[in-house]
Amino acid sequence: MRQFSEKKLLIATHNQGKLEEIERLLAPFGVAVVSAGQLNLDEPDETEDNFIGNARIKAHAAVKATGLPALADDSGIEIDALDGAPGVYTADWAETPNGRDFVMAMTNTWQKLEDAVAPYPRTARFRCTLVLAWPDGHDEIFEGQIDGAVTWPLRGEQGHGYDPIFMPDGYDITLGEMDRWKKNEISHRADAFNKLVNGCFGE
Ligand code: IMP
Repeated sequence: MRQFSEKKLLIATHNQGKLEEIERLLAPFGVAVVSAGQLNLDEPDETEDNFIGNARIKAHAAVKATGLPALADDSGIEIDALDGAPGVYTADWAETPNGRDFVMAMTNTWQKLEDAVAPYPRTARFRCTLVLAWPDGHDEIFEGQIDGAVTWPLRGEQGHGYDPIFMPDGYDITLGEMDRWKKNEISHRADAFNKLVNGCFGE
């Protein structure tokens, strides 16, 4: 596996919540970080039907636009009683003409489970795929997950996206109620990051 020895890394995301988590996770490694959002890079279309494919699209588009090595995250929530939906379409379920509305998305998600009279616990997991891509075209892929269940009502103001509907296994609070440092120890992103750090940052 290739080691990361460059001084600067582009985070290929326009998602502020993801960026903050990734910056915190990378903080110990002394790498200067800049984001696709800060550089006003175009967001490529995510045309693949799987997390790895879409993360690779984002990482390689960012490398091409800047010449910097880039790290992309593709992630989402899979709900068992919905056959793994929304999965790669997690962000799409929140789209409105005026931007993303995650309360609407989570409300609709819960309604689908009610309509299906889904049994409890309504098991689910967040998945995260990270792709680290270099300017010569090489990339490395890491996958993480956190298991739990979706719950109602929505709880918590911390975190982002679908955090208020998701209760991790072993906890009685949602990710939306969890301190962000704590979330960063147990999340799907942390799981993928541990693999990235072990593989590419020499730990
Ligand atoms: P994408 O990876 O940019 O296609 O978007 C994934 C979507 O999954 C995000 O917009 C969030 O809605 C959701 N998501 C991914 N990771 C998290 C998380 O850590 N907490 C809550 N929602 C998440």
